[in-house]
Amino acid sequence: KQTIKELKEEVAKRKEAEYKILESLRKERELNELKTKFLSLVSHEFKTPLSGILTSATLAGKYTETDQQDKREKHLKTIQSKVKYLNNILNDFLSIERLESGKATYKFDTFPLSKVVNEVIYNANMLLKEGQRINYPQNIDDISVNFDEKILELSLTNLINNAIKYSPAHTLIDVEVIKEKEALTIKISDEGMGIPEKEQKYIFNRYFRAENALLDQGTGIGLNIVKSHLESLGGTIIFESEEGKGSTFTITFPNKNTTE
Ligand code: ADP
Repeated sequence: KQTIKELKEEVAKRKEAEYKILESLRKERELNELKTKFLSLVSHEFKTPLSGILTSATLAGKYTETDQQDKREKHLKTIQSKVKYLNNILNDFLSIERLESGKATYKFDTFPLSKVVNEVIYNANMLLKEGQRINYPQNIDDISVNFDEKILELSLTNLINNAIKYSPAHTLIDVEVIKEKEALTIKISDEGMGIPEKEQKYIFNRYFRAENALLDQGTGIGLNIVKSHLESLGGTIIFESEEGKGSTFTITFPNKNTTE
């Protein structure tokens, strides 16, 4: 015969089991919603770049003569940058999936800051509009980073690509690195459209896109995952922005080992 205490314990156990089931159902529902959203975003976001790739590939295939090399190369570059763009979107989505399913894993390595910065700038250069320029520090060779390299690359890629995308031609994008004793700060400033003040509080929400940005392609997930990843790793991201003037995004992350 069960005592009152045993009965109470059993009720508590059942409640907990019930809670766990509800929790996993909720997670499953969220993942399903994510997949539906992913499918609609993918079909929408991939359409324009894919048709651009097809056009460029067709044209590149037509310019076969030696004196048409310039034209051929121009189209091949377009293909390269559009494929990179699609690849970035896919990486962002994979990140969300991993964050949501609790499968995000991090890997700490020691690497030179210049390695990641140079790689990100190299890729970003392909996206620059006419007369846009990226100013970035050349004296970072001795800065060694102990952090998740992929997350740093994903963060800088998102921020620099946004700076390019949301700024007009003939503007400057400035990358500044500030080395502190136990942290590293990277600031990315642009002279672009900025973020309307009344929408600034939503900017890190998943899928949120400001009114003035809607003419440009985008998914509204980049800033959300950058913030999630950085915060999981003890870092932060903040920004200042003025509509019509520009924006500065600042990331800071722990880095004890800043000099080689
Ligand atoms: P996406 O660029 O794909 O829309 P993000 O999450 O990277 O998604 O950015 C969310 C929104 O924040 C953008 O749609 C845009 O409205 C705004 N935003 C981000 N970076 C900038 C920037 N550098 N200048 C102006 N607006 C920006």
